[in-house]
Amino acid sequence: MNIYGMTLTALRDHLSERGENPAKSEIIFDGIYRRGITEFSQLGFSRRVTEMLEHDFTFGLPEIAERLDSSDTAKLLLRLNDGEFVETVLMRQSFGACVCVSTQVGCAMGCAFCQSGRLKRRRDLLPEEIVGQILAIQQSFGVKVTGVSVMGIGEPFDNFDNVSAFCDIITAGKGLAVGESHITISTCGLVPEIYRYAELSHPCNLAISLHAPNDALRDTLMPINRRYPLAELIKAAEHFSVKANRRVTMEYIMLSGVNDEPQYAQQLSELIGDRNFYVNIIPYNPTEADSFEKSSCERIMAFYDVLKKNNIGVTMRREFGSELKAACGQLSAAHDER
Ligand code: SAH
Repeated sequence: MNIYGMTLTALRDHLSERGENPAKSEIIFDGIYRRGITEFSQLGFSRRVTEMLEHDFTFGLPEIAERLDSSDTAKLLLRLNDGEFVETVLMRQSFGACVCVSTQVGCAMGCAFCQSGRLKRRRDLLPEEIVGQILAIQQSFGVKVTGVSVMGIGEPFDNFDNVSAFCDIITAGKGLAVGESHITISTCGLVPEIYRYAELSHPCNLAISLHAPNDALRDTLMPINRRYPLAELIKAAEHFSVKANRRVTMEYIMLSGVNDEPQYAQQLSELIGDRNFYVNIIPYNPTEADSFEKSSCERIMAFYDVLKKNNIGVTMRREFGSELKAACGQLSAAHDER
């Protein structure tokens, strides 16, 4: 087993089964995530315990195949054990180092504007492969990761168990101790999993890739909408916001002439109403594979103004990473084309 895929609870259970004191799990987490040890002999346990750990666990991290760096954004292309590739992006923000992690190799959701969907879903990432992305970024760029967006390649709720194990591992206080409120999981709208997520004892933040305020338009952009239409999606998001007492982000990519008309901002305001949601307006990142275009600044501002006038909370995402092809929806498609 890979040690980076073990939650604290799983490690504790494993130690108990082996007749060891489960409290050792915290010493192990502290050693591997805080001190960065890569050999069990560095933990100061007896020879018997060290040998047991060496026998049961490995320290496998993905291999760095390519490293790109610019002032505020950096990107790693990582090679997994079976030869598949994933990408991870580092955003150096004023308040700390934020990482955007991938959760699958490819994606099955097929959104019209997204490059990842073109790659098809090849497999889910294991918890250790998602944790490995954080560790690879920390080691490669000498940063301490303080925020995580689960918004890279893949649909996180299509890999629910592994993504929640990943969250458990990186939030453990004895380990990386990333705060739950500094982690955001973004979904295209898998309604049953939103309800499952609301049941977790310590859920992180939730973002919904909304991108359209009515079913007719959303059906044309996101196939998932035919399975879980907007009324159900909004109901699920509201349930989460009430249950977890968290504000839910509604992501909205601005596609010129498609969803950026002021009338859509009005519809969006009505859809949101007085729920505990806010809108994050995202500039579209043009890709070669589709025919969408970026909305003009004027269009974006007009849309923003309608939401503001209707008292909807709204922010605009800074455009990170477009020079590295690290912007949303472009991860690893560039690699695949080579
Ligand atoms: N599958 C998840 C997470 C990955 S996508 C989801 O759908 O939310 C992360 C975000 O990037 C989503 O909001 C997605 O809609 C957006 N995105 C995809 N392609 C994009 C593009 N070309 N430009 C801007 N944002 C894009």
